[in-house]
Amino acid sequence: MVQPIYQSSIFHMPDHRVAAATEHAVHPHSYYSRWGNPTVSYLENQLSALMGTEASLVFPSGMAAITTTLLTLLGPGDRVAMSSALYGDTTRFFLEELRRWGVVVSLFDPCEPRALPALIEQGARLVYFESISNPELRIADLDAIHAACRGRPVLTVCDCTFSPPGVLAEGQRPADLCLHSLTKYLSGHYSVFGGSVSGPQALIDRIWHQQSLYGSAIDPQAAWQISQGVKTLQLRIARQSASAALLAEALCGHPRVERVFHPSLQCGPGTAARRHLSAGGGVLSVSLKGGEAAALRLVERTRVFGLSVSLGGVSSCIEHAQSMSHSMLDAMDAQMLAQSGARIPPDGLVRLSVGIEEPEDLLQDLMAALDD
Ligand SMILES: *Cc1c(COP(=O)(O)O)cnc(C)c1O
Repeated sequence: MVQPIYQSSIFHMPDHRVAAATEHAVHPHSYYSRWGNPTVSYLENQLSALMGTEASLVFPSGMAAITTTLLTLLGPGDRVAMSSALYGDTTRFFLEELRRWGVVVSLFDPCEPRALPALIEQGARLVYFESISNPELRIADLDAIHAACRGRPVLTVCDCTFSPPGVLAEGQRPADLCLHSLTKYLSGHYSVFGGSVSGPQALIDRIWHQQSLYGSAIDPQAAWQISQGVKTLQLRIARQSASAALLAEALCGHPRVERVFHPSLQCGPGTAARRHLSAGGGVLSVSLKGGEAAALRLVERTRVFGLSVSLGGVSSCIEHAQSMSHSMLDAMDAQMLAQSGARIPPDGLVRLSVGIEEPEDLLQDLMAALDD
């Protein structure tokens, strides 16, 4: 009933003919574990079934999935259009690393992608965005992005970490390739790192060649642990989404709160694009009156919400986005960053990831922390 862990780097070959043939195979799962492993394949098949794609590849972290995918698809002189609202390290990879390798990077607003048709006209061949952005929960206008790309020689790549199956409505395909940090909702217990890319077999095969070359292989033990988490994803997402919606609603009227961001609310950025979602997910952000000082006060006063980065797991976390999850933007050239138009989280923004605890306990915790 539970798949075994093939904790092995090598596999015994029946004869030399089979061994030599496997050397030339694409993604063999029982030969050398940098190329594939049965426990890892099990997880890859789980993800493809969940996402409704032909194939998936699993990596040791979300960033490994993102960087390997982009390095496979892009080369010097290529043009890309990137969303202005991305995870800090992804922004850094585009603006520092890919530019260093001669890729021409331009930005567009994922909620109002008016600039996108012109960027594609100018030769952008890859469009990269997050379906719901980290940390401001900006919902990408999928219809407008797809309309701009339709009939053009352009590949869409979406980081779906904030919209796993259960948040994204059934049958929705946000992009040609869907990336996940499995560290978050998919594993769901804050005990393991992982990343994935899902999409058409031919593209996944291309990415596999680079993955095996770069050596970005996940350990079977970690893959197994993520597989176990995936089995309860739907239950967790339903509970987390309901609790987060309840907290978002309650925080909206609080006198110390300036603004609340959660896809369940009418007022957030990009809410017109909500039709692609079937739930809001467990993450919400709150900007506080009193800016950074008020935000830091809140993150240190909660008891049930633990002060920690990351999101999507069974226990609730709270963090100050600018100085924690997105602090890597600080390390970048400030002038270049400002000129690029990339969004930097405001200093009064607190990001909450709601777990599966009793919603009433979470509500009381937040209200007490805001009030005293
Ligand atoms: C966490 C995160 C990543 C990076 O994933 P790791 O597993 O930490 O490498 C990428 N994108 C988003 C949206 C994330 O939240």
